[in-house]
Amino acid sequence: MDNLINVHSYVAGEWLGSDNNNDFMARPIFSAVTGQPIAFAGREGTDFQSMLDHGRQVGGPALRAMTFHERAKALKAMAHYLGERKEELYTLSFMAGSTKADSWIDIDGGIGTLFAYASKARRELPDATTFVDGDVEVLSRTGSFVGQHICTPKLGVGVHINAFNFPVWGMLEKLASSLLAGVPAIVKPATDTSYITEACFRMMIESGCFPTGSFQLIAGAVGDLLHRLTPQDVVSFTGSAHTALNLRSNTNILSNSIPFIAEQDSLNASILGPDAVLGTPEFSIMVEEVIREMTTKAGQKCTAIRRILVPENIVETAIEAIHGKLQKVRIGDPSLETTQMGPLASRKQRETVVAVNEQLALEAPAVLAAGQMEVDGADAIAGSFIAPTLFHCAEPDSAKHVHELEAFGPSATIMPYRDLEHASDLLNRGGGSLVASIITHDPDVARKIAIGSAAWHGRIYVNDRTSRKESTGHGSPMPQMVHGGPGRAGGGEELGGIRGVMHYMQRTAIQGSPDMIAAVADTWIPDSKTSESEAHPFTQKFGELKLGQTLKTDSRTITMEDIEHFAHFTGDTFYAHLDEEAAKANPFFPGRVAHGYLLLSFAAGLFVQPDPGPVLANTGLTDLAFQKPVSPGDSITVTLTVKRKTKRTDTYGEVRWYVALHNQNQEPVATYTLHTMNEY
Ligand code: NAP
Repeated sequence: MDNLINVHSYVAGEWLGSDNNNDFMARPIFSAVTGQPIAFAGREGTDFQSMLDHGRQVGGPALRAMTFHERAKALKAMAHYLGERKEELYTLSFMAGSTKADSWIDIDGGIGTLFAYASKARRELPDATTFVDGDVEVLSRTGSFVGQHICTPKLGVGVHINAFNFPVWGMLEKLASSLLAGVPAIVKPATDTSYITEACFRMMIESGCFPTGSFQLIAGAVGDLLHRLTPQDVVSFTGSAHTALNLRSNTNILSNSIPFIAEQDSLNASILGPDAVLGTPEFSIMVEEVIREMTTKAGQKCTAIRRILVPENIVETAIEAIHGKLQKVRIGDPSLETTQMGPLASRKQRETVVAVNEQLALEAPAVLAAGQMEVDGADAIAGSFIAPTLFHCAEPDSAKHVHELEAFGPSATIMPYRDLEHASDLLNRGGGSLVASIITHDPDVARKIAIGSAAWHGRIYVNDRTSRKESTGHGSPMPQMVHGGPGRAGGGEELGGIRGVMHYMQRTAIQGSPDMIAAVADTWIPDSKTSESEAHPFTQKFGELKLGQTLKTDSRTITMEDIEHFAHFTGDTFYAHLDEEAAKANPFFPGRVAHGYLLLSFAAGLFVQPDPGPVLANTGLTDLAFQKPVSPGDSITVTLTVKRKTKRTDTYGEVRWYVALHNQNQEPVATYTLHTMNEY
């Protein structure tokens, strides 16, 4: 065992490997290319309780003391650190059968996910420790009792159990959400590729970007860890439906309602629209997507296309086109530049795929069978090589296996459909999938299939000649978009931007008086306490402004001349402003009224402090509502209140102001939220 990689666990700040040759918990790991042993993982006597204690008592408090923005900065710094050292991970990944292109998805894809989350968090989350979810809900007649949803980090750990096929991305995409939420993680990679995860994990620890206890690693089995979890912990699992069922049935998980996020296998399908006949760009897009999905990572992608649905009159043509391209795919040692498809991750994996292929062949004879291709630079049998197999199922209505069995390798089944309804019906027979694609240039086809099938799929990907160049691919989960799917796919969700972070937070409805809610949510809300501004707030820097600080302006009377002038100056000569009779006939207006935009402009004229100062820019306004028309002769006053502050950089921050316009009778005329960037 001396020259093999000893995959270590990282337990309560200590690296622990298997230290004797007789460790019955240590499992050998073999090269996918040569079949020779390369590593071993797992050890006796890991103290899982000390891991949980360390995460809960050391990592959790340290992470929760950081704001979302501080965690985002740490995530970004860690992404940079990994990016500078990623070559080592590429080299290791060859042994798992991944070509450079395969590893790009795993390694650069994982690092890219950290960057994407870091930047989304800085833009969409506050520089605070609590997330205020949605608007205040008024729960009483006079507004003295209101409600607000807030999200706070769970007080436990995230247990992240990952599949073998993405040893880096799988870890990083889960960590991005968990760490941003302020929840430490215990990562359990699949044993077969754990040596790659461990190498990346070592870099993460060396980077020192996150506080001690933020993440720990288990090489090998998890022992009784799941029995020790509490309702404040979260399990996030990726792997087969079989393992998911086993783990989520754990009595501790069930009896304590411990959140269990599952990303499972799925029988993803791609539909070729009836318009996409041979010779159209869409036909070639379908062939490209199928070849890419079947061969990237040798088809070991949870999102890969397993079923290809084509109009019945085009089946033979489609088979011929796919068959022609598949035959040209170069299979071989993944470290060779000419290799397009490497081996499966292990011989065990090959055995499983061969067995499933045999089942599929009972319903769908293989058009292109495994074993027909040559392997460059490696021994096809010693390594876990397998050729792509395209099955043809002529009777998909009566077939069962093709809709239910996942061959986690380069296998896919082509089948005919009669019309769009039939296509949707077949698509949905997967029982819930991660992604379905529709390859069409006809928006009507896209709409009918998407609406007919969306409830069964986590993601629907439409591609045609317009999006071809920039589309991200049927099989690529994007950090911004939901990854997961109903039923067979696990019923879970990951990624999806900030939605992913919320899986590690508890949403709580807080109810009370406006002052209480403002204090809890650390944001000013209407009817909570205000303080009159002594200096004009536009003369104060970001750090000097206080929540609830208010400016009340003088009043301004709106004249008929103002309305006329504004109408002709801007070109907005809508009848409600210029035609008394027509305006009166309108159910909303007493006669000619001022333009809403005129009111906004006059409001700015009333509250703006014109001199150069800490307000750097007006970046927009949101939540605008006009509540009452303003007639010539009415006057307006403006109240400007500091509602929320979000630090953006060391030199400036965003201030959100609640702006309320009232008429001479103190009746509300308009409200909106103004956004400005202010010097720090
Ligand atoms: P798997 O055999 O189900 O294993 C998944 C993970 O669960 C591994 O880390 C495995 O560890 C662990 N595990 C197995 N038994 C366990 C137990 N009793 N207690 C705790 N952990 C346990 O799946 P896989 O072979 O690694 O991955 C392939 C499958 O994953 C395919 O079916 C694929 O479709 C699916 N997948 C889904 C997604 C998605 O996002 N939906 C992504 C990738 C893959 P060991 O390796 O140590 O057994």
